[in-house]
Amino acid sequence: MTPSLWNDISQLAIDSEELKQFQTAELKKMLQHLYQNSPYYKEKFDAAGVNPDDFTSMEDFAQYPTFDKYEERESQAKSIELEGHPLGMHLSCDIKKVNRMSASSGTTGTPSFQGHTYNDRQTIFKNFARLMDVTGCKPGDKVMMAGVMSMWVAGIPTVDALLDFGANVIPIGGLVGTAKVLEMMTLTKPDVLVCTPSFARVLIKKAKGELATDLPALGVKKVFVYGEPGGSVPEIINEIETGFGGATVYDMAGGTGALNPIFVSCEEQDGMHFIAPDHAIIELYDRDNDKVIPWQDGAVGEFIYTGLHRECGPLIRFKDGDLVQVNTKPCKCGFPGMRIKFIGRVDDMLLVKGVNVFPTAIRDLVISSGDKVTGNIKVVKPTASPVVEPPLKIKVEYKNGVSESELQQLNSTLSESMQRQLRFKPEFEFFKEGELTLEYGATGKVQLLEKLY
Ligand SMILES: [Zn+2]
Repeated sequence: MTPSLWNDISQLAIDSEELKQFQTAELKKMLQHLYQNSPYYKEKFDAAGVNPDDFTSMEDFAQYPTFDKYEERESQAKSIELEGHPLGMHLSCDIKKVNRMSASSGTTGTPSFQGHTYNDRQTIFKNFARLMDVTGCKPGDKVMMAGVMSMWVAGIPTVDALLDFGANVIPIGGLVGTAKVLEMMTLTKPDVLVCTPSFARVLIKKAKGELATDLPALGVKKVFVYGEPGGSVPEIINEIETGFGGATVYDMAGGTGALNPIFVSCEEQDGMHFIAPDHAIIELYDRDNDKVIPWQDGAVGEFIYTGLHRECGPLIRFKDGDLVQVNTKPCKCGFPGMRIKFIGRVDDMLLVKGVNVFPTAIRDLVISSGDKVTGNIKVVKPTASPVVEPPLKIKVEYKNGVSESELQQLNSTLSESMQRQLRFKPEFEFFKEGELTLEYGATGKVQLLEKLY
């Protein structure tokens, strides 16, 4: 059984001495194990001139080489060819110990595989149980899983963890469509619904419209959302909470390399708490200057994840590509340590006249403009290069009943606020409600970029 600091959560504060000592000891064990048992990591560490026997403090960790999705893909392509499995040459346990193979869709369409041993599943169960604790869930609560399941990392593993927690799980899966989900919700009356924010919004819309279901009357108390930044956008939280008759929205997330979930928001709705600092090391990274940056309130960077207790294919210092903002101020809920806000994917970032622009930031700004818009947008990306010549084209859907003059007003308000807050010149194309066709990736995430290449 892996030791845990969870019994005294004050020890999970990022400046806690107990945590630092714990992380250093566990990390050293992990690095030594890999150096002795994984030819892949031995070669990698030797090339970087580091030896885990010399590892004495977390400061030493910055000398260790990072991992990224390109290296992961290459390692997996090689293991398919040489070993007959897609878990990568960095697989460091006996293949017979692998208990499950999951995948994430990857932004480029190439699936990225993650294997879990029996013990890896136990770590996921622990992290999930913490999430249930922070959100006030109890064994026996009825939890409907309406995310896309199949073999995706947030799918079946989530159901597995919910079962272990002792929830009364209703594993319907989002692929059956909104009509079936609403029918089953009406029959089973779940306390908790798990899905992407966009799926929750579509459910609300369909329930009000063609499927004529009184969603608020179904008694859903909590909506767990994941996979998209919407669960931390006040307007979207409000829309979902109202649509479900006063349910509370909790945003949950993970990071590649960790045994997820490791982040969840609380009722304060002010960022996600990092609930597993004794199972995952996180570093904040400045890609432009290629250096690790200190934990400071308001700091922005990319996370580098290292799962501390992962047996199957551990990813040491994995650059996940999510940009986050750190919040170290104490939270009213009392949970110690830092909170984070996801800002966007490094891959989705556009450069307009030298200014970094994230599609999620554009959508947040459109949504916060008032009640004329549905919140559905698409940002047009003309070429594979992140550099876009202004004006940046943005498709915006407006609500039924908005007049021509209101639309003109909306155009100028949005143009003005984008230039002021995001510092680029937009060009809007407006669509009537229902006319902007949104696309979803394999795992059910809405695609905000419309790629013309
Ligand atoms: Zn809190």
